[in-house]
Amino acid sequence: MIRELVIQASYLAASVLLILGLRSLTHPDSARRGMHLAALGMLIAVVGTLLHREIVDYRWILAGLALGSLIGYPMGMWVPMTAMPQRIAISHMFGALAATLVGVAEFVNRGSGAGVVHAQMAALGFEVLFGSLTVTGSLMAFLKLQEILPGVPITFRGQNVISLLLFAGGLGLLGWLVVDPAQPAAFHLMLAVGLAFGVSLVLPIGGADMPVVISLLNSYAGLASAATGFAIGNNVLIIAGALDGASGFILSVIMSKAMNRSFGNVLFGAFGTPQAATTKGAEGLAVRAITPEDAAVQLAYARKVIVVPGYGMAVSQAQHQLRELAGLIEKNGGEVVYAIHPVAGRMPGHMNVLLAEADVPYDRLREMEDVNPEFASADVVLVIGANDVVNPAAKHDRQSPIYGMPILEVEQAKNVLVLKRSMNPGFAGIENELFYMPQTSMLFGDAKQSLQKLIAEVKLA
Ligand code: NAP
Repeated sequence: MIRELVIQASYLAASVLLILGLRSLTHPDSARRGMHLAALGMLIAVVGTLLHREIVDYRWILAGLALGSLIGYPMGMWVPMTAMPQRIAISHMFGALAATLVGVAEFVNRGSGAGVVHAQMAALGFEVLFGSLTVTGSLMAFLKLQEILPGVPITFRGQNVISLLLFAGGLGLLGWLVVDPAQPAAFHLMLAVGLAFGVSLVLPIGGADMPVVISLLNSYAGLASAATGFAIGNNVLIIAGALDGASGFILSVIMSKAMNRSFGNVLFGAFGTPQAATTKGAEGLAVRAITPEDAAVQLAYARKVIVVPGYGMAVSQAQHQLRELAGLIEKNGGEVVYAIHPVAGRMPGHMNVLLAEADVPYDRLREMEDVNPEFASADVVLVIGANDVVNPAAKHDRQSPIYGMPILEVEQAKNVLVLKRSMNPGFAGIENELFYMPQTSMLFGDAKQSLQKLIAEVKLA
């Protein structure tokens, strides 16, 4: 009795901590605390579960704990920031695998369905169907982002029809099992269909849309966990799963909006298909390279500088040098603000995290809608390793794969200084006419090294 009370109290405490943690994640300055709260909540939930009377032997649990720590610790410590999307994808795969295996074990434990009542079967079936499609879907996302599989959409004729048939088949089998749970063959077939659907769902989606897919799969993993909670009567799983399911879904919607894409388009549009560079006028035009000395003069005397960070800043980890340069400009009396595109970098909030790490004050960060009218009045716009998010083709080139994506309207500025290593394209694989415009100067080189040179020169100016 007391044991049960302690378990339920720990679940309640864990649920409150998870909710508070999620709430704190809504603002950069409380995000770190939010992570700690959520981690503490998870720890309390695990400890509460370990008190369960049904546990008869701790040896397997300890072995699992050791193995999980062995895999998880290096994943947390050594995976670079730039590989975060694929790390998240593989974590979802493990989460969904756990939910699926619990579902399969429950089914088998109850006489392969014979001892399962209809309502339980609905929860179990949902868990296994959504869990299994999340396992393979997340694995495909991981393989694509890690470039083990090509990042471009892999399509064939009739693909969407096959996907829809698989999904409908999975739902049909689920319905059958709810009516008649004692059907092990249908259960196993549903598992196989779920696994196949995960592959067919993600293969045709291009790398550029992967973040939306990952957060959608996150949502599925959460729903599968909530269903697990219903199936095995575990409250904290229901609450945590519902939080995960809802937040993942909301994030997917926000990201789709930021890319100006509909959900259907992301899932069935095969976005990211490589296309010939369609940007008119790029061919044959020369770019204007600039030396660090000349670039530093522009920055040293600028009244207003807008910084546009992108994926390249993350690659070169140049955020600390950027902060130092901004400090020098401010010392000279200039104002520096940072324009944040919602999908700059490779994961939601990527730029915010990096700038926060370098102690850039939050009040200097400007969202896209707020900063766009300011570009025309800036003396210099400093683009650091950003490309697609400042590509004007998104506004006018109907053939461009990023057509319709809202962009930072850097082309409105009087002076644009771009820091990147070469004329290589960004994630979408397309040319950027901004780099050829008369107001743009290119400072070629690794972003961190270029910023170091600029810092040295601004100090001399
Ligand atoms: P981007 O379009 O991928 O361009 C990054 C640029 O950085 C490249 O052109 C590259 O040019 C340069 N670069 C790479 N390493 C560098 C280094 N060490 N120093 C200096 N420059 C370097 O990046 P973005 O403008 O941030 O756009 C993000 C793209 O990723 C969008 O297409 C978005 O849809 C997609 N995406 C976003 C997310 C998300 O959630 N944020 C996730 C996945 C994909 P060089 O090689 O010439 O240096």
